[in-house]
Amino acid sequence: MLAPPRSVIILGGGTAGWMTANLLHRRWSEHGTEISLIESSAIGIIGVGEGSTPQLKAFFDTLGIAESEWMPRCNATYKAGIEFAGWSDRPGYERYFHPFPTDVDGFTQGQFFYSTRARRTGRDVPAHPDPFFIQTRIAREGRAPVAPPNFPFLVSYGYHFDAHLIGAFLRDFGTSRGIEHVDAKIASVELNEQGDVKALVAEDGRRFEAEFFVDASGFRAAIVEGALKEPHRPFGENLFNDRAVVAATEHPKGGVQACTRSIAKSAGWIWNIPLTNRVGNGYVYSSRYIDPDDAEAELREHLGLAGNADVRHLQMKCGRIERSWVKNCLAVGLAQGFLEPLEATALHIVINTVESFLDAWEEDRRDGFNAAIARRYEGIRDYLVCHYRTALRSDTEYWRDATKNDALSDSLKGVITAWFRGQDLEEEVKRQDIGKFYLPLSWHCMLAGYGNFPSADMLKPPGPDIVQFDMADVDRFVGGCAMNFPMHAEALGRLEETA
Ligand SMILES: Cc1cc2nc3c(=O)[nH]c(=O)nc-3n(C[C@H](O)[C@H](O)[C@H](O)COP(=O)(O)OP(=O)(O)OC[C@H]3O[C@@H](n4cnc5c(N)ncnc54)[C@H](O)[C@@H]3O)c2cc1C
Repeated sequence: MLAPPRSVIILGGGTAGWMTANLLHRRWSEHGTEISLIESSAIGIIGVGEGSTPQLKAFFDTLGIAESEWMPRCNATYKAGIEFAGWSDRPGYERYFHPFPTDVDGFTQGQFFYSTRARRTGRDVPAHPDPFFIQTRIAREGRAPVAPPNFPFLVSYGYHFDAHLIGAFLRDFGTSRGIEHVDAKIASVELNEQGDVKALVAEDGRRFEAEFFVDASGFRAAIVEGALKEPHRPFGENLFNDRAVVAATEHPKGGVQACTRSIAKSAGWIWNIPLTNRVGNGYVYSSRYIDPDDAEAELREHLGLAGNADVRHLQMKCGRIERSWVKNCLAVGLAQGFLEPLEATALHIVINTVESFLDAWEEDRRDGFNAAIARRYEGIRDYLVCHYRTALRSDTEYWRDATKNDALSDSLKGVITAWFRGQDLEEEVKRQDIGKFYLPLSWHCMLAGYGNFPSADMLKPPGPDIVQFDMADVDRFVGGCAMNFPMHAEALGRLEETA
C-alpha cells in the first residue's frame, strides 16, 4: 500500500476544490498529510452549479455533516428528480419526470419496463413513465423525498443549494479541522526535471511547494493543461451547447416543488432550480444557432424578467482532459472536464473522482483509475446525447440537427437500436455494463418519456398475449406510498428549527 503524500496543495476554492480538500483531509490527515488550499479572491468562483444527484447526500454523510447543519446555511432544498418539459411535441408526452431511484420502484418498475416493450412492439398500452414512480408523485404533490422514520424503503434524493454558500460552508468546515487556506493569485507553475510539479508561484512572489497537487482552478486548468500540457478532448461534436445565460427570480406563488425543471427552448433548454430564498434559472444554448443577445431575450421572455434585471453570460468548455491524474497532480471539477448541466452531474463526478483516486492511490493503480474516469465521462455524455437524439421536436434548425446528429458512440447506438427493435433494454444496459452511469430505469424513462413509440394510429389493441396492468392499482400504490412523505415546506421548516 502506497503511503499518502506528506503535503498536498489544492489550487482553487470553488465547490470542487473545497469538496476535494475535505475528502482528502478525512482520509489522509491521520497519516500526517498537510493539506492547503490556495485560491484567488480576485478571480473568484464560477458561482453556478446548484443542483446535485444523490451522490451529494453520500458526500455529506461521509463527512458526518447533518442536513440541519448545512442545508439552512446554503438555502438548500430537496430534489426528487428532474422534470423535462417541451422536449417532445408528441401528444401526451409534453413532459416527463426523471426520478431518483427508490427501493419502492421494485414494485412498479417491472410493469413499466414490460409496458414500454409492449408499446414499442406496437401494442396500445399505457407506457408513459410518470404514473409508475413515487418520486414523480412526491415532487408533483409538493412533498419532500425524505422518508419518514417508519417508511421501510430506501429513497435516494439530491439537493439544490447556493453555489457560493456551499463553498463557504465547506471552507469553514475544512479550516476548522486544520486545512490551511491561502489567498494568492498563482502566476506560474514550476516543474522539476522529471516534469512533476514542484511549486506554485504567486504574483506577489510567494512560492508554495508540496509533494502532491490538485488542480481545481476551474476552466483555466492552470496546472494540468497550462503547465503539464495534458490534451483536452472537446465534446462539441456530440453536444452542441457551449454557452449559458443565467438569472435569478423570486419563488412562484404556492411554494417550490422538490425538483429541477428543464424546459426545452429554441436552441437549448432553460433550468429552474428552486432554493429557499430564490429560484436560479439559466438558458444553456448553442452559439452556433442563437447569439447571446437573442438567448438573453428568450430567457427574459420565458421568466418575465424586466429589462433592467441582472443576467450573467457564461462560456462553457465542454469536454474532458485526456487523463485526470497526470504526474503528481489530480485534476477535479471544471479543470478536469465539463458536461453540460442537463443532469447536474458535475459535483457527482468530483466526488466520484476523489474517492476513486484515494482507493487507486493506495493500490498504486493510476492507469486503471484514469481509464475508469474517462469511461465515466463518456457514459454520462452518452446519456446526455441520447436526450437530444431521441427528443421529438423539430421546430428549429437546432432541434432538427440535434435529433439527426449521428455522432453517436457505439455504446449509445446499441442502446437506441435495442429500444427501437423492441429488445430488452434492461439486458442491453447490463450487457454493456453502463448501468453504473445510468440505471435501466433512467434509460427507459427518457426514451419512453419523449414518446419514442410507434405513432398512435399504428398501435394495435393489446390482445390476450399481453399482460395489462390496471393503472388504477398502480396509481393507488404510488399515491399510497407518497402520502407518507412530508410536504416540502414542512420538511425545510423542520431543518430550520433544528439548525
Ligand atoms: C452554466 C452552468 C451550470 C452548471 N450547473 C451545474 C449543476 O446544476 N450541478 C452541478 O453539479 N454542476 C453544475 N455546473 C458545474 C459547476 O458549476 C462546477 O462543477 C462547480 O461549481 C465546481 O467548479 P470548480 O470548483 O471546478 O471551478 P470554479 O468555481 O471556477 O473555481 C475555480 C477556483 O480556482 C481559483 N483559481 C483559478 N485560477 C487561479 C489562479 N491562477 N490562482 C489562484 N486561484 C485560481 C479561483 O479563484 C476559484 O477559487 C454548472 C456549470 C455551468 C457552467
